[in-house]
This record gives sequence, C-alpha cells and structure tokens, in this order.
Amino acid sequence: MKIVNVVAAIMQQQGRILIARRDNQSDLAGYWEFPGGKMEQDETPVQALIRELEEEFNISHIQVADYIATSTIQQPERIIQLQAWKVVAWQGDIHLRCHTDFCWVTPDEALHYQLAPADIPLLLAYQHT
Ligand code: C5P
Repeated sequence: MKIVNVVAAIMQQQGRILIARRDNQSDLAGYWEFPGGKMEQDETPVQALIRELEEEFNISHIQVADYIATSTIQQPERIIQLQAWKVVAWQGDIHLRCHTDFCWVTPDEALHYQLAPADIPLLLAYQHT
C-alpha cells in the first residue's frame, strides 16, 4: 500500500492554537485540522511546512520549532503518515486560500471540534509537551 507523508503545523499564539476547516471539495470535507499537506519529493518536513503555510494562508517568515509526533492512519488506498510540528512565529495576517474557516482555540477547546481523525493523537501529544 502507498505511504503518503503529510506535514501539519500546530501554530501557537498566546496559549491558543489554530485549527482550520477543510473545504467542501477535499476529502474529510468540513473536518477541522492542523494546516499542512503532502510533502513533495526531496523536501524536508520543515520546507514542506513553510511552503504549505505560505500557500494556504499567505503568510511568510514562518518559524518552525519542535517536532511533536507522527500519527498513522489507513485510508482506503493509502496510509497517511501525518507528522506535526510546532510553529511559533510568522509574518502577515492569515488569508484563507484553501480552507473555509479557521479559529484560535485552547487545546482543550479543540477537542470539542470535529477534528480529522489523524489530528486527534497529535493534539493529545501537543498537550503533553
Ligand atoms: O491536505 P491534503 O489533502 O494534501 O492532505 C493529504 C491527506 O492528509 C488527506 O487525506 C488529509 O485528509 C490528510 N490530512 C489530515 N490531517 C491534516 C492534514 C492532512 O488527516 N492536518
């Protein structure tokens, strides 16, 4: 089975983290997630995170900090390996290009949202950092 490597950012600001809602055209439409996406060939996780956040949010000077955890989830024809990293600084206001909504929530509040299944263990790991 094909393994797909995906990166996700847990962006943090003043005790809150960002979750974004997947658009209606994507798989897991309407689910909330940590922003990110598939790594391209020859890209490091940090490079992929920077590219994805620039593309999805139109922000720049993204500062990736600690690696948090990886969760593995099986989909019908592939295995997703989703690795999360803390993102602690960036420049510019967030302008959504791919998601339908975003919000800043405490980690406890995030648990009340309908999160993409692979993101839940990452949130739990983040809470223990
Ligand atoms: O965002 P993109 O569609 O490129 O992500 C690839 C796969 O990774 C999708 O199946 C998506 O559901 C999953 N994913 C996830 N949680 C994220 C980001 C992506 O489960 N935070």
